[in-house]
Amino acid sequence: MSESIVKGKVYDIQGFSVQDGPGIRTTIFLKGCPLSCPWCHSPESQAFRSQLSWISMRCIGVEQCGKCIKACPKGAIKAGNAVKKSGTDEAISYVSIDRSLCDDCGDCTKVCYPGALYLCGEDYTVEELLKRVSKDIPFYDESGGGVTVSGGEALSQAEFTFELLKGLKERKIHTALDTTGFTDPKNIQQVLPYTDLFLYDLKNMDSSQHKIVTGVPNERILDNARRIAEAGGKLQIRVPIIPNFSDSEENIRLTGEFCRSLGDAVVLIQLLPYHDLGIVKYQRIYDDVKVLKAEPPSDEKIMELKKILEDFGLTVTVH
Ligand code: SF4
Ligand code: SF4
Repeated sequence: MSESIVKGKVYDIQGFSVQDGPGIRTTIFLKGCPLSCPWCHSPESQAFRSQLSWISMRCIGVEQCGKCIKACPKGAIKAGNAVKKSGTDEAISYVSIDRSLCDDCGDCTKVCYPGALYLCGEDYTVEELLKRVSKDIPFYDESGGGVTVSGGEALSQAEFTFELLKGLKERKIHTALDTTGFTDPKNIQQVLPYTDLFLYDLKNMDSSQHKIVTGVPNERILDNARRIAEAGGKLQIRVPIIPNFSDSEENIRLTGEFCRSLGDAVVLIQLLPYHDLGIVKYQRIYDDVKVLKAEPPSDEKIMELKKILEDFGLTVTVH
């Protein structure tokens, strides 16, 4: 086994995950995505660089601490307005971060002992990640699980993702790759022999709508799905059900037709109803929240859409 020196920027590693493929898995989340979906529930994944994040409920306030203010070489942190602590008459001043001055150097995180400030995005080598996941091989074996490489768009860091998947297969670990499909076809060809399952997003079958809302058209995504199917790869299709974007019967019918055209390659379709959990995460790294705010689809609506796909003979679950 050769040792890779390629580094990847990772923003989270979740052990004992049961949502990202079969069995018990470790999911490795990579930074950077070429799409900008307004409902993104992981907005911290979108930028390619490490970013300063702040969790208000962990901050003990500038009266008691305030260490980050002195630590910042750019003068980007100051005391914010005093606000009442919930359930008490006590006032507390949290920090206020001027993002236009911050260059994400991370100096403030080194003095923030409660962990309110942290850098989202850390560099790892493939070897470091392989070492970390290898201790969980017994759980993978027992449950039929493995490792999922996710994002962001993991193939935005194509070389690293390729080396990681290859290293996992060399250790006989089941691999899943969670991808938007919006990537150069050569990246798909490269990872195909080392990817047991593609978790593959199909958001909207109308390319112009897709471009208006996500920032990119869908032709490349559909072509790459065909490429995977023709090469004998397996696809678990994920369809986010987003109000007024992907939730029409027409879109779901076209999605069903497309999946059927891929033959046996599609092993499962997952419907992912919209939720607004991304808003809290967005507030940790940005001043203005650009996440879509909408009413989640009703259970009845989801069941109607599920039935349309099942009528194509597809296996469908809701998450
Ligand atoms: S990351 Fe660096 S520049 Fe940004 S607030 Fe912290 S210390 Fe200041
Ligand atoms: S160092 Fe951390 S806990 Fe202390 S004031 Fe700054 S953000 Fe809050």
